[in-house]
Amino acid sequence: MDFKKSTALYERSKKSLAGGVSSQARIGEKPVPLFFESGKGSKLYDVDGNEYIDYQMANGPAFFGHSPDFLLEAVNREMQRFQLFAGQHEMEIRVSELVQQAVPCAELVRYNSSGTEAVQSALRMARAYTGRNKFIKFEGHYHGWMDSVFYSTFHPPLDRIGPYESPSAVPVSAGQSRGTAEEVITLPWNDLALLTMAVEKHQGELAAIIMEPIACNVNSALPRAGFLEGVRQLCSDRGIVLIFDEVITGFRIGLGGAQGYLGVTPDIGVFAKAMAGGFPVSMVAAKKEIMTSLEDSTTVLAGTYNSNVMVMAAAEASIHKLMENDGAVYRHVYSVGNRLMDGLRGLALTHEEDVLVQGLGPAFHMIFTAEKELPDYRSGAQKSDGERYARFRVGMLENGVRLMDDGRWFLSTAHTEDDIDRTLEIADRTFRSL
Ligand code: PLP
Repeated sequence: MDFKKSTALYERSKKSLAGGVSSQARIGEKPVPLFFESGKGSKLYDVDGNEYIDYQMANGPAFFGHSPDFLLEAVNREMQRFQLFAGQHEMEIRVSELVQQAVPCAELVRYNSSGTEAVQSALRMARAYTGRNKFIKFEGHYHGWMDSVFYSTFHPPLDRIGPYESPSAVPVSAGQSRGTAEEVITLPWNDLALLTMAVEKHQGELAAIIMEPIACNVNSALPRAGFLEGVRQLCSDRGIVLIFDEVITGFRIGLGGAQGYLGVTPDIGVFAKAMAGGFPVSMVAAKKEIMTSLEDSTTVLAGTYNSNVMVMAAAEASIHKLMENDGAVYRHVYSVGNRLMDGLRGLALTHEEDVLVQGLGPAFHMIFTAEKELPDYRSGAQKSDGERYARFRVGMLENGVRLMDDGRWFLSTAHTEDDIDRTLEIADRTFRSL
Protein backbone atom coordinates (compact mmCIF):
# COMPACT_ATOMS: atom_id res chain seq x y z
CA MET A 1 0.00 0.00 0.00
CA ASP A 2 1.37 3.42 -0.88
CA PHE A 3 0.13 6.99 -0.54
CA LYS A 4 1.91 8.64 -3.47
CA LYS A 5 -1.10 10.45 -4.90
CA SER A 6 -2.27 11.65 -1.47
CA THR A 7 1.25 12.90 -0.76
CA ALA A 8 1.37 14.80 -4.06
CA LEU A 9 -2.11 16.28 -3.56
CA TYR A 10 -1.21 17.33 -0.02
CA GLU A 11 1.84 19.21 -1.34
CA ARG A 12 -0.36 20.89 -3.96
CA SER A 13 -3.07 21.61 -1.39
CA LYS A 14 -0.68 23.52 0.89
CA LYS A 15 -0.28 26.13 -1.86
CA SER A 16 -3.96 27.14 -1.79
CA LEU A 17 -5.49 25.81 1.45
CA ALA A 18 -3.90 27.09 4.66
CA GLY A 19 -2.00 24.16 6.15
CA GLY A 20 -3.30 22.01 3.27
CA VAL A 21 -6.50 21.10 5.13
CA SER A 22 -9.96 22.48 5.94
CA SER A 23 -10.05 21.54 9.62
CA GLN A 24 -7.13 21.64 12.05
CA ALA A 25 -8.04 18.15 13.21
CA ARG A 26 -6.93 16.79 9.82
CA ILE A 27 -3.51 18.40 9.69
CA GLY A 28 -1.52 15.84 11.65
CA GLU A 29 -2.75 12.65 9.99
CA LYS A 30 0.07 10.11 9.60
CA PRO A 31 1.68 9.04 7.37
CA VAL A 32 0.06 11.85 5.34
CA PRO A 33 -3.38 13.53 5.34
CA LEU A 34 -5.27 11.21 2.99
CA PHE A 35 -7.33 12.29 -0.01
CA PHE A 36 -10.41 10.19 -0.64
CA GLU A 37 -12.24 9.46 -3.84
CA SER A 38 -15.35 7.60 -2.73
CA GLY A 39 -17.05 5.73 0.06
CA LYS A 40 -19.75 3.08 0.26
CA GLY A 41 -21.06 1.38 3.38
CA SER A 42 -18.23 0.69 5.81
CA LYS A 43 -15.56 1.22 3.12
CA LEU A 44 -13.59 4.25 1.97
CA TYR A 45 -11.39 4.45 -1.12
CA ASP A 46 -8.47 6.87 -1.40
CA VAL A 47 -6.95 8.43 -4.51
CA ASP A 48 -4.16 5.80 -4.52
CA GLY A 49 -6.76 3.05 -4.93
CA ASN A 50 -6.45 1.83 -1.33
CA GLU A 51 -9.55 0.38 0.30
CA TYR A 52 -10.18 0.85 4.02
CA ILE A 53 -12.68 -0.50 6.50
CA ASP A 54 -13.48 2.83 8.09
CA TYR A 55 -13.90 3.33 11.85
CA GLN A 56 -13.57 7.10 11.69
CA MET A 57 -16.97 7.43 10.04
CA ALA A 58 -16.57 11.16 9.42
CA ASN A 59 -15.91 11.56 13.19
CA GLY A 60 -19.35 10.18 13.94
CA PRO A 61 -21.95 11.45 11.45
CA ALA A 62 -21.74 8.52 9.01
CA PHE A 63 -23.85 6.32 11.30
CA PHE A 64 -25.43 4.59 8.30
CA GLY A 65 -22.08 4.15 6.58
CA HIS A 66 -20.91 6.09 3.56
CA SER A 67 -23.35 7.06 0.78
CA PRO A 68 -26.40 5.23 2.20
CA ASP A 69 -28.94 4.80 -0.60
CA PHE A 70 -32.06 5.55 1.45
CA LEU A 71 -30.61 8.85 2.64
CA LEU A 72 -29.33 10.00 -0.74
CA GLU A 73 -32.69 9.16 -2.31
CA ALA A 74 -34.61 11.15 0.31
CA VAL A 75 -32.36 14.19 0.01
CA ASN A 76 -32.31 14.05 -3.76
CA ARG A 77 -36.08 13.77 -3.97
CA GLU A 78 -36.76 16.74 -1.68
CA MET A 79 -34.05 19.02 -3.05
CA GLN A 80 -35.54 18.82 -6.53
CA ARG A 81 -38.45 20.89 -5.19
CA PHE A 82 -36.43 23.61 -3.46
CA GLN A 83 -33.36 24.02 -1.25
CA LEU A 84 -33.22 27.23 0.75
CA PHE A 85 -35.73 30.05 0.80
CA ALA A 86 -35.67 31.80 4.21
CA GLY A 87 -39.11 30.52 5.10
CA GLN A 88 -40.86 27.61 6.79
CA HIS A 89 -41.62 24.18 5.38
CA GLU A 90 -43.59 21.27 6.76
CA MET A 91 -40.62 18.93 6.97
CA GLU A 92 -39.19 20.99 9.87
CA ILE A 93 -42.32 20.28 11.87
CA ARG A 94 -42.29 16.59 10.99
CA VAL A 95 -38.65 16.25 12.11
CA SER A 96 -39.35 18.18 15.33
CA GLU A 97 -42.33 15.94 16.10
CA LEU A 98 -40.18 12.84 15.60
CA VAL A 99 -37.54 14.34 17.87
CA GLN A 100 -40.15 15.02 20.55
CA GLN A 101 -41.03 11.33 20.48
CA ALA A 102 -37.40 10.23 20.60
CA VAL A 103 -35.50 12.57 22.92
CA PRO A 104 -36.53 12.99 26.58
CA CYS A 105 -35.52 16.68 26.97
CA ALA A 106 -37.00 17.75 23.62
CA GLU A 107 -40.11 19.72 24.49
CA LEU A 108 -39.12 22.38 21.94
CA VAL A 109 -36.24 22.48 19.46
CA ARG A 110 -34.30 24.78 17.15
CA TYR A 111 -31.82 23.87 14.41
CA ASN A 112 -28.38 25.02 13.33
CA SER A 113 -25.79 23.61 10.95
CA SER A 114 -22.86 22.54 13.15
CA GLY A 115 -22.43 21.22 16.67
CA THR A 116 -20.34 24.26 17.54
CA GLU A 117 -23.21 26.58 16.64
CA ALA A 118 -25.81 24.60 18.55
CA VAL A 119 -23.60 24.68 21.68
CA GLN A 120 -23.61 28.47 21.39
CA SER A 121 -27.40 28.37 21.09
CA ALA A 122 -27.59 26.23 24.23
CA LEU A 123 -25.35 28.53 26.28
CA ARG A 124 -27.29 31.59 25.13
CA MET A 125 -30.57 29.97 26.14
CA ALA A 126 -29.11 29.05 29.54
CA ARG A 127 -27.84 32.57 30.15
CA ALA A 128 -31.08 34.17 29.00
CA TYR A 129 -33.07 31.84 31.24
CA THR A 130 -30.99 32.25 34.39
CA GLY A 131 -29.75 35.82 33.95
CA ARG A 132 -26.30 34.52 34.96
CA ASN A 133 -23.08 34.43 32.98
CA LYS A 134 -20.60 31.75 34.08
CA PHE A 135 -20.62 28.06 33.29
CA ILE A 136 -18.75 24.91 34.25
CA LYS A 137 -17.21 22.63 31.66
CA PHE A 138 -15.06 19.55 32.14
CA GLU A 139 -11.46 18.88 31.16
CA GLY A 140 -11.09 17.22 27.80
CA HIS A 141 -14.78 17.50 26.92
CA TYR A 142 -15.10 19.11 23.50
CA HIS A 143 -17.93 21.49 22.71
CA GLY A 144 -16.73 22.94 19.42
CA TRP A 145 -14.17 25.57 18.63
CA MET A 146 -15.90 28.87 19.52
CA ASP A 147 -13.98 31.14 21.88
CA SER A 148 -16.27 30.71 24.88
CA VAL A 149 -15.94 26.91 25.20
CA PHE A 150 -12.52 26.28 23.66
CA TYR A 151 -10.77 25.66 26.98
CA SER A 152 -8.94 22.64 28.39
CA THR A 153 -9.78 20.46 25.44
CA PHE A 154 -7.78 18.85 22.59
CA HIS A 155 -5.27 17.36 25.06
CA PRO A 156 -4.39 20.34 27.28
CA PRO A 157 -0.81 19.98 28.61
CA LEU A 158 -0.75 18.48 32.11
CA ASP A 159 1.78 21.09 33.26
CA ARG A 160 -0.68 23.89 32.44
CA ILE A 161 -4.02 22.66 33.75
CA GLY A 162 -3.14 23.26 37.40
CA PRO A 163 -3.95 21.19 40.49
CA TYR A 164 -6.77 18.61 40.41
CA GLU A 165 -8.85 20.48 43.00
CA SER A 166 -8.51 23.94 41.41
CA PRO A 167 -7.74 23.61 37.70
CA SER A 168 -6.78 26.40 35.32
CA ALA A 169 -8.86 26.83 32.16
CA VAL A 170 -6.34 26.51 29.33
CA PRO A 171 -7.25 28.23 26.03
CA VAL A 172 -6.62 26.01 23.01
CA SER A 173 -5.94 28.50 20.24
CA ALA A 174 -4.03 31.68 19.60
CA GLY A 175 -6.46 34.47 18.83
CA GLN A 176 -9.13 33.34 21.30
CA SER A 177 -10.90 36.24 23.00
CA ARG A 178 -9.31 36.68 26.43
CA GLY A 179 -12.55 37.96 27.93
CA THR A 180 -14.15 34.53 27.66
CA ALA A 181 -11.75 33.08 30.24
CA GLU A 182 -13.61 34.96 32.99
CA GLU A 183 -16.79 33.05 32.22
CA VAL A 184 -15.62 29.46 32.23
CA ILE A 185 -14.73 27.20 35.16
CA THR A 186 -13.06 23.90 34.24
CA LEU A 187 -13.08 20.79 36.41
CA PRO A 188 -12.13 17.11 36.17
CA TRP A 189 -15.21 15.05 35.23
CA ASN A 190 -16.84 12.29 37.26
CA ASP A 191 -16.10 13.87 40.68
CA LEU A 192 -19.38 14.96 42.27
CA ALA A 193 -17.78 16.19 45.52
CA LEU A 194 -15.44 18.53 43.64
CA LEU A 195 -18.26 19.77 41.44
CA THR A 196 -20.46 20.43 44.47
CA MET A 197 -17.67 22.52 46.03
CA ALA A 198 -17.28 24.56 42.84
CA VAL A 199 -21.02 25.17 42.66
CA GLU A 200 -20.99 26.39 46.29
CA LYS A 201 -18.07 28.68 45.54
CA HIS A 202 -19.78 30.23 42.52
CA GLN A 203 -23.21 30.40 44.14
CA GLY A 204 -25.54 32.66 42.14
CA GLU A 205 -23.11 33.09 39.22
CA LEU A 206 -23.63 29.89 37.26
CA ALA A 207 -25.92 29.76 34.24
CA ALA A 208 -25.02 26.22 33.19
CA ILE A 209 -23.06 23.03 33.63
CA ILE A 210 -22.20 21.54 30.26
CA MET A 211 -20.78 18.07 29.66
CA GLU A 212 -20.60 15.15 27.31
CA PRO A 213 -22.80 12.68 29.25
CA ILE A 214 -20.64 9.87 27.89
CA ALA A 215 -17.23 11.40 27.31
CA CYS A 216 -16.64 10.26 23.73
CA ASN A 217 -13.85 12.83 23.38
CA VAL A 218 -12.17 11.60 26.58
CA ASN A 219 -11.45 7.89 26.39
CA SER A 220 -15.18 7.22 25.89
CA ALA A 221 -15.45 7.32 29.67
CA LEU A 222 -18.84 6.50 31.14
CA PRO A 223 -20.28 8.44 34.06
CA ARG A 224 -19.62 6.73 37.38
CA ALA A 225 -22.62 5.36 39.26
CA GLY A 226 -24.62 8.25 40.70
CA PHE A 227 -22.58 11.02 39.06
CA LEU A 228 -25.17 12.19 36.51
CA GLU A 229 -28.01 11.79 39.00
CA GLY A 230 -26.01 13.90 41.48
CA VAL A 231 -25.33 16.62 38.92
CA ARG A 232 -29.00 16.60 37.92
CA GLN A 233 -30.02 17.13 41.55
CA LEU A 234 -27.42 19.85 42.09
CA CYS A 235 -28.62 21.76 39.03
CA SER A 236 -32.29 21.45 40.01
CA ASP A 237 -31.56 22.61 43.56
CA ARG A 238 -29.52 25.63 42.45
CA GLY A 239 -31.45 26.70 39.35
CA ILE A 240 -28.50 25.90 37.09
CA VAL A 241 -29.24 24.74 33.55
CA LEU A 242 -27.86 21.26 32.86
CA ILE A 243 -26.68 20.93 29.27
CA PHE A 244 -25.79 17.56 27.77
CA ASP A 245 -23.68 17.94 24.66
CA GLU A 246 -24.93 14.92 22.71
CA VAL A 247 -23.31 15.90 19.43
CA ILE A 248 -21.71 12.44 19.36
CA THR A 249 -23.96 10.38 21.62
CA GLY A 250 -27.25 11.72 20.21
CA PHE A 251 -29.01 9.17 17.95
CA ARG A 252 -25.82 7.00 18.10
CA ILE A 253 -25.98 5.50 21.59
CA GLY A 254 -29.72 5.04 21.18
CA LEU A 255 -32.73 6.84 19.78
CA GLY A 256 -32.96 8.94 22.97
CA GLY A 257 -29.21 9.61 23.04
CA ALA A 258 -27.15 9.17 26.19
CA GLN A 259 -29.95 10.76 28.23
CA GLY A 260 -32.33 8.01 27.12
CA TYR A 261 -29.71 5.32 27.60
CA LEU A 262 -28.63 6.50 31.05
CA GLY A 263 -32.02 7.70 32.28
CA VAL A 264 -31.01 11.23 33.29
CA THR A 265 -32.73 14.12 31.52
CA PRO A 266 -30.90 17.43 31.12
CA ASP A 267 -32.58 20.81 30.69
CA ILE A 268 -30.98 21.26 27.27
CA GLY A 269 -29.51 18.71 24.87
CA VAL A 270 -27.33 19.51 21.88
CA PHE A 271 -27.46 17.13 18.91
CA ALA A 272 -25.80 16.83 15.49
CA LYS A 273 -23.73 14.17 13.67
CA ALA A 274 -25.70 10.89 13.63
CA MET A 275 -28.97 12.82 13.49
CA ALA A 276 -28.71 13.22 9.71
CA GLY A 277 -26.19 10.60 8.60
CA GLY A 278 -23.57 13.09 7.41
CA PHE A 279 -25.68 16.05 6.33
CA PRO A 280 -24.86 19.19 8.31
CA VAL A 281 -27.63 19.68 10.82
CA SER A 282 -27.47 20.39 14.53
CA MET A 283 -30.17 20.94 17.10
CA VAL A 284 -30.74 22.43 20.49
CA ALA A 285 -33.56 20.61 22.28
CA ALA A 286 -34.85 21.86 25.61
CA LYS A 287 -37.57 22.10 28.16
CA LYS A 288 -40.36 24.44 27.12
CA GLU A 289 -39.80 27.08 29.79
CA ILE A 290 -36.18 27.57 28.64
CA MET A 291 -37.27 28.13 25.04
CA THR A 292 -40.16 30.53 25.64
CA SER A 293 -38.03 33.68 25.41
CA LEU A 294 -37.59 32.82 21.72
CA GLU A 295 -41.30 33.36 21.16
CA ASP A 296 -41.26 37.13 21.66
CA SER A 297 -37.66 37.48 20.37
CA THR A 298 -36.30 38.49 23.78
CA THR A 299 -33.67 35.86 23.00
CA VAL A 300 -32.40 35.56 19.46
CA LEU A 301 -31.03 32.55 17.59
CA ALA A 302 -30.52 32.79 13.83
CA GLY A 303 -28.81 31.23 10.81
CA THR A 304 -29.28 31.44 7.03
CA TYR A 305 -28.86 27.70 6.56
CA ASN A 306 -30.94 26.57 9.54
CA SER A 307 -33.30 23.70 8.69
CA ASN A 308 -32.69 23.85 4.95
CA VAL A 309 -34.45 21.26 2.82
CA MET A 310 -31.46 18.97 2.32
CA VAL A 311 -30.64 18.53 6.01
CA MET A 312 -34.24 18.20 7.10
CA ALA A 313 -34.82 15.53 4.46
CA ALA A 314 -31.73 13.73 5.75
CA ALA A 315 -32.82 14.06 9.39
CA GLU A 316 -36.34 12.82 8.66
CA ALA A 317 -35.11 9.79 6.71
CA SER A 318 -32.47 9.06 9.37
CA ILE A 319 -34.83 9.17 12.33
CA HIS A 320 -37.37 6.98 10.51
CA LYS A 321 -34.61 4.47 9.82
CA LEU A 322 -33.54 4.55 13.48
CA MET A 323 -37.12 3.92 14.60
CA GLU A 324 -37.74 1.04 12.15
CA ASN A 325 -38.41 -2.46 13.54
CA ASP A 326 -38.21 -1.31 17.10
CA GLY A 327 -34.61 -0.10 16.81
CA ALA A 328 -33.19 -2.99 14.77
CA VAL A 329 -30.26 -0.84 13.60
CA TYR A 330 -29.16 -0.32 17.19
CA ARG A 331 -29.25 -4.04 17.90
CA HIS A 332 -26.95 -4.51 14.93
CA VAL A 333 -24.51 -1.72 15.82
CA TYR A 334 -24.24 -2.90 19.44
CA SER A 335 -23.78 -6.47 18.32
CA VAL A 336 -20.90 -5.79 15.89
CA GLY A 337 -19.42 -3.12 18.16
CA ASN A 338 -19.41 -5.34 21.25
CA ARG A 339 -17.89 -8.22 19.29
CA LEU A 340 -15.13 -5.91 18.07
CA MET A 341 -14.47 -4.59 21.58
CA ASP A 342 -14.26 -8.14 22.99
CA GLY A 343 -12.09 -9.25 20.09
CA LEU A 344 -9.61 -6.42 20.68
CA ARG A 345 -9.48 -7.24 24.40
CA GLY A 346 -8.81 -10.89 23.59
CA LEU A 347 -6.02 -10.04 21.14
CA ALA A 348 -4.39 -7.72 23.66
CA LEU A 349 -4.32 -10.57 26.17
CA THR A 350 -2.87 -12.97 23.59
CA HIS A 351 -0.13 -10.49 22.71
CA GLU A 352 0.47 -9.54 26.36
CA GLU A 353 -0.28 -5.90 25.71
CA ASP A 354 -1.81 -3.64 28.37
CA VAL A 355 -4.89 -2.37 26.58
CA LEU A 356 -8.14 -0.88 27.84
CA VAL A 357 -11.16 -0.97 25.54
CA GLN A 358 -13.63 1.46 27.11
CA GLY A 359 -17.02 2.75 25.98
CA LEU A 360 -20.06 1.26 24.29
CA GLY A 361 -20.47 -0.73 21.09
CA PRO A 362 -21.40 2.24 18.86
CA ALA A 363 -18.44 4.40 20.06
CA PHE A 364 -15.47 3.25 22.11
CA HIS A 365 -11.80 3.90 22.73
CA MET A 366 -8.84 1.55 22.60
CA ILE A 367 -6.03 2.78 24.85
CA PHE A 368 -2.62 1.35 25.67
CA THR A 369 -2.70 1.47 29.47
CA ALA A 370 -2.52 -0.90 32.42
CA GLU A 371 -5.49 0.90 34.06
CA LYS A 372 -8.83 -0.86 34.31
CA GLU A 373 -10.76 2.42 34.00
CA LEU A 374 -9.88 5.94 32.82
CA PRO A 375 -12.68 8.08 34.26
CA ASP A 376 -11.45 11.55 33.27
CA TYR A 377 -8.99 13.44 31.11
CA ARG A 378 -6.09 13.56 33.59
CA SER A 379 -6.03 9.85 34.29
CA GLY A 380 -5.84 9.13 30.56
CA ALA A 381 -3.19 11.75 29.86
CA GLN A 382 -1.01 10.52 32.73
CA LYS A 383 -1.40 6.81 32.29
CA SER A 384 -1.72 5.97 28.61
CA ASP A 385 0.86 5.32 25.91
CA GLY A 386 -0.24 7.47 22.99
CA GLU A 387 2.88 6.72 20.96
CA ARG A 388 2.18 3.00 21.01
CA TYR A 389 -1.37 3.65 19.82
CA ALA A 390 -0.02 5.91 17.04
CA ARG A 391 2.13 2.99 15.82
CA PHE A 392 -0.79 0.60 16.08
CA ARG A 393 -2.98 3.03 14.10
CA VAL A 394 -0.47 3.40 11.25
CA GLY A 395 -0.01 -0.40 11.18
CA MET A 396 -3.78 -0.85 10.84
CA LEU A 397 -4.00 1.83 8.15
CA GLU A 398 -1.27 0.20 6.09
CA ASN A 399 -3.32 -3.00 6.17
CA GLY A 400 -6.61 -1.39 5.20
CA VAL A 401 -8.28 -0.30 8.46
CA ARG A 402 -8.77 3.40 9.08
CA LEU A 403 -8.81 4.54 12.71
CA MET A 404 -8.89 7.90 14.42
CA ASP A 405 -5.64 9.10 15.92
CA ASP A 406 -7.05 9.60 19.43
CA GLY A 407 -8.00 5.96 20.00
CA ARG A 408 -11.69 6.37 19.18
CA TRP A 409 -13.57 3.82 17.07
CA PHE A 410 -16.96 4.64 15.53
CA LEU A 411 -19.22 1.83 14.33
CA SER A 412 -22.02 2.22 11.82
CA THR A 413 -25.07 0.28 10.76
CA ALA A 414 -23.12 -0.65 7.62
CA HIS A 415 -20.35 -2.58 9.42
CA THR A 416 -20.78 -6.30 8.84
CA GLU A 417 -19.66 -9.41 10.69
CA ASP A 418 -17.13 -9.90 7.86
CA ASP A 419 -15.73 -6.42 8.51
CA ILE A 420 -15.24 -7.34 12.15
CA ASP A 421 -13.53 -10.67 11.26
CA ARG A 422 -11.18 -8.90 8.86
CA THR A 423 -10.47 -6.05 11.30
CA LEU A 424 -9.56 -8.51 14.06
CA GLU A 425 -7.28 -10.47 11.70
CA ILE A 426 -5.47 -7.25 10.82
CA ALA A 427 -5.34 -6.19 14.48
CA ASP A 428 -3.78 -9.57 15.32
CA ARG A 429 -1.01 -8.97 12.77
CA THR A 430 -0.57 -5.37 13.87
CA PHE A 431 -0.21 -6.28 17.57
CA ARG A 432 2.40 -8.82 16.56
CA SER A 433 4.37 -6.21 14.62
CA LEU A 434 4.50 -3.63 17.44
N1 PLP B 1 -19.60 18.69 20.75
C1 PLP B 1 -19.03 17.49 20.68
C2 PLP B 1 -19.23 16.50 21.79
C3 PLP B 1 -18.25 17.13 19.56
O1 PLP B 1 -17.66 15.94 19.51
C4 PLP B 1 -18.12 18.08 18.51
C5 PLP B 1 -17.34 17.74 17.32
O2 PLP B 1 -16.74 16.71 17.20
C6 PLP B 1 -18.74 19.33 18.64
C7 PLP B 1 -19.48 19.60 19.77
C8 PLP B 1 -18.61 20.34 17.56
O3 PLP B 1 -19.37 19.97 16.46
P1 PLP B 1 -19.02 20.52 15.00
O4 PLP B 1 -17.70 19.93 14.62
O5 PLP B 1 -20.17 20.05 14.16
O6 PLP B 1 -18.98 21.99 15.10
